[in-house]
Amino acid sequence: MTAPRPLIAGNWKMNGLAASLAEAKAVAAGLGATPARVAICPPATLIHRMSEALAGTAVLVGGQDGHAEPDGAFTGDVAAEQLADAGAVLVIVGHSERRAGYRETDALVAAKTRAALRAGLEPIVCVGETLAQRKAGEALGVVTGQVRGSLPAELAGQAFSVAYEPVWAIGTGLTPTTPEIEEVHRAIRATLVALFGDAGRAVPILYGGSVKPANAAEILHAAEVGGALVGGASLKAADFLGIIRAV
Ligand code: PEP
Repeated sequence: MTAPRPLIAGNWKMNGLAASLAEAKAVAAGLGATPARVAICPPATLIHRMSEALAGTAVLVGGQDGHAEPDGAFTGDVAAEQLADAGAVLVIVGHSERRAGYRETDALVAAKTRAALRAGLEPIVCVGETLAQRKAGEALGVVTGQVRGSLPAELAGQAFSVAYEPVWAIGTGLTPTTPEIEEVHRAIRATLVALFGDAGRAVPILYGGSVKPANAAEILHAAEVGGALVGGASLKAADFLGIIRAV
């Protein structure tokens, strides 16, 4: 089975105005030859303009969250179909900021993942333990439980990735040690194989949490790391390109 191309995805979170499209264009212009697939997930307000600005380039555009229903009375929400209609080809689901801030459960994340597939989007399903859970020795149990609960059976045969993002490493400048990352990624891999058989070996497992140019090479070359989900360091083209070049 050939290894999938690493995926480097930028999560702009609630950052970015029209002027920020220049950063996305600079990423596309500076990409050069890379073995990685590269994506930027801007706020929903920018998806359409970014997909137009990046048309014809190798940089993919993704959403940060998509509602489980295709339409309806859900004020302020955006359906997976609407993300696709705006030009997105991927979508992040189950980010810890949504699990914590909007009380998203594994079951809801699984429903949103099904919705992504229904809309033709490639899901990036996020999992990760809190600091308290890690300190209590629960990291592996929590993460593998989230993988089992958040990945619906419909993913079999579909393109998707899992992002391991320890909650305590997001936006903090803290990162697990390389052996700690490898331990969790191996546990996720074993769970993927248990769920999807041999196909589970080809699912990219991204690491996310304070990835920056200075630590990207070590993280991206760790065992079972198939790319990165990058928050803060994806906002500036120079930093994001520095991470992409470390693949
Ligand atoms: C994220 O929010 O997915 C993330 C990894 O953020 P940061 O890189 O800023 O830690």
